[in-house]
Amino acid sequence: MPEINENLISELEKIQDPQELIGHLYRTFGNRCAIGTSGQLTGTAMIDQAIQAGITKPRVFTIDTLRLFPETYQLFEAIEKRYQIHIERLEPDSQKLGEMVKEHGEFLFFDSKEKQELCCGLRKVEPNDRALETLDVWLAGLRTDQSQERSGKSRFEIITDKKGRSILKVAPLLFWTEKQARDYCAVHQVPIHKLLNVNHNGWYYESLGCVICTTPIGPTEPRRAGRWRWFKDDANKECGLHVVKKDE
Ligand code: SF4
Repeated sequence: MPEINENLISELEKIQDPQELIGHLYRTFGNRCAIGTSGQLTGTAMIDQAIQAGITKPRVFTIDTLRLFPETYQLFEAIEKRYQIHIERLEPDSQKLGEMVKEHGEFLFFDSKEKQELCCGLRKVEPNDRALETLDVWLAGLRTDQSQERSGKSRFEIITDKKGRSILKVAPLLFWTEKQARDYCAVHQVPIHKLLNVNHNGWYYESLGCVICTTPIGPTEPRRAGRWRWFKDDANKECGLHVVKKDE
């Protein structure tokens, strides 16, 4: 298996077509490669592309924060049925979750940015770290049009797991627009999250995370404005999964 380093990235940079790239990565890394999806358009589109690329059983995982919309669970079941795959569900550590709730309450994320990050850290980041321990390549559905922070991302990024091991994080659809993702799903009949089709006077869900913390956005709002609306700092709308740590 190739080493995860800048040389590998230089080689992979030559593959522009997302489907070709996804197929190549699965063929090269097998089950050490996986799509991480939270049910957004690009996650499901990547699963479809892997299948189209000839990967019959692409490894796919999701982080079940135990606070997802019922429609998110329905989507995962629809994807599993359509593509005959199993989506691995990683949940928060139940003991730590119990301790956090006991100390700070169920709705600690309303209290402060720090407590929201504590909750996201325990419900999302820590289970995701567990998934990364089993991977060499993490396929993520990030898009540059989602936020200012994400507009500066690269398709390839070398990150490290808890033990300092290098993992290649790849965003094959980074430069797709939301319309491209929606069009792809429509043309290829990819199951999409039911709430993504809800539109009330121009208000719609651009993405789906946990209930309460995710709300629809208005016609002129930034795409991640629907997350944690009670915080004034509109710039910080990340849960920690896709944030590059300062010491990296
Ligand atoms: S989005 Fe909200 S409920 Fe979900 S993990 Fe983050 S703070 Fe907790």
